Amino acid sequence: MTETRIRLLPETLANQIAAGEVVERPASVVKELVENALDAGAGRVDIDLEEGGARLIRVRDDGGGIAPEELALAVQRHATSKIATLDDLEAVATLGFRGEALPSIASVSRFRILSKRAHDPHGHALEVEGGRVDKPVPVAHGEGTTVEVRDLFFNVPARKKFMRAERTELGHIEEWLRSLALARPDVELRLGHNGKATRRYRGGQDALIADDRLLQTLGEEFTRNALAVGHEAAGLALRGWIAQPAYNRPSADQQYLYVNGRSVRDRSIAHAVKMAYADVLFHGRQPAYVLFLELDPRRVDVNVHPAKHEVRFRDARLVHDFVYRTLKDALAQTRAGVTATPNM
Ligand code: ADP
Ligand code: MG
Repeated sequence: MTETRIRLLPETLANQIAAGEVVERPASVVKELVENALDAGAGRVDIDLEEGGARLIRVRDDGGGIAPEELALAVQRHATSKIATLDDLEAVATLGFRGEALPSIASVSRFRILSKRAHDPHGHALEVEGGRVDKPVPVAHGEGTTVEVRDLFFNVPARKKFMRAERTELGHIEEWLRSLALARPDVELRLGHNGKATRRYRGGQDALIADDRLLQTLGEEFTRNALAVGHEAAGLALRGWIAQPAYNRPSADQQYLYVNGRSVRDRSIAHAVKMAYADVLFHGRQPAYVLFLELDPRRVDVNVHPAKHEVRFRDARLVHDFVYRTLKDALAQTRAGVTATPNM
């Protein structure tokens, strides 16, 4: 028989364990930081990287900022301004709510956060290195927040080993940014890598910008073949674009699904789309689409996975059938349209 002793893990280690789930690679850091910026109401987000994010990830926003006396709290686990009760959790509309991202990231990097609210006379900066939190110091900073993450996984060699070449990590970040750019045309997004601007999405409310984003992210051919979808029933709304069957792909690389603005993977919805295309697509080919599903947040659980890549619907069957019908009808109309054209 062996006797064991139970003890509480040191906070930094607990954060590093959480980081194992939330921080897979530089792209996950970018995702968490940009989502925080969006939750803070940013109208513009600047992302700067060095060496594919391995050396530096800097995300700057013009959002509401953080109170100087709360900076230390922001990097503590389970500290969040986004929910306070179970009821809030069940109706959550922000991208974040777990209060885990900043402490996790800070526990596996050299971390600095700078912030200033509109009415603060100046900004404050707080540094964390290997879990050690410094005192905030005054700093010059415009309105909003900047987070700098240097030397990701410097203290977790096992993780560092899994980082890929600069190009590969940059590719993951660009792909993630593409999916965000489709969902948030209202926000200006800029990406720089090793001192060069690599992507720029201008932002704004007008409809032309959304079209522009489609062109910029999915290209001219998709845009030319895109059918606009828009349908509402039973408290569900589906809008977006689907490609006519003539435009299809060898892989699922142009399939974007958002549930209440959150980019997710969902097998049931993917299946519904596949079924809708079943009669009009060659076997082995994949449809291309950008779909936004909106429903009451109480009808969908977003707290399924720490990285929030998946959701669970309360009435999954209803959602499946709604998506299937909406797309099936949209595709049937174009087929009618296409066959009618030669007679005109
Ligand atoms: P969550 O987003 O789940 O609340 P995070 O660890 O990502 O948890 O962030 C902790 C808190 O820090 C947030 O709830 C928010 O109040 C604050 N925060 C983080 N990033 C920003 C930002 N860019 N602008 C304003 N506040 C921020
Ligand atoms: Mg967050």
